[in-house]
Amino acid sequence: MDDALTAQLDPPYAASVNGDGDNSIPGGDDEGMVRRMAAHMAGIMAELNLSLDDPNFAETPARVARMYLEMFHGLREGAEPKVTTFPNDGGYHHMVIEKEVPFYSMCAHHFVPFYGHAHIAYIPGDTIVGLSKLPRILEFYAKRPQLQERLTEQVAEFLWSKLEPQGVMVVIEARHLCVEMRGVKKSGALTTTSALRGCFADRKVREEFLALLARRAAW
Ligand SMILES: [Zn+2]
Repeated sequence: MDDALTAQLDPPYAASVNGDGDNSIPGGDDEGMVRRMAAHMAGIMAELNLSLDDPNFAETPARVARMYLEMFHGLREGAEPKVTTFPNDGGYHHMVIEKEVPFYSMCAHHFVPFYGHAHIAYIPGDTIVGLSKLPRILEFYAKRPQLQERLTEQVAEFLWSKLEPQGVMVVIEARHLCVEMRGVKKSGALTTTSALRGCFADRKVREEFLALLARRAAW
């Protein structure tokens, strides 16, 4: 890698490599980022002998740059969702499940999409969370170069640390286009990952969750 490119890969770019979001990209320079990323994309296209004189390609570098800003929004400073918790006044101590929450992410190894559904369950302790927050937490961690295993763990850990529930479990089922479009080309293969904390280590609790997952809505 030449020095000029290495210099350009200094933070914030280098910081985003781990995708953990603890070294977030500062906001406020979107146009500068789009310009610089577009220049890199134009370089890739030049290597592929694609001419920017072709009207279909002319705006592609900037379009891809803007798309990356959107798809990797979870890396941006301030992207972490604010999670308001409520006291569990009703004393609800059974399972809360959000099933089939859709998500789209980008494989950290190939920068092509993987997508599918997450099933998120927790058993409250002293606090509960607004149900609309669960998809936002998933999206925050999905919108970055990601591994399905890490995405699953990060959602579980976020809820575990912020909510201090009795337990939490996350199951993610996803299709990986890097598997389907290239390499072994296993079209339609589903990858399943799970992460759990607390009382979900108990087999009975886990089995209740999995049994509820197996039931599809009647409507
Ligand atoms: Zn991949």
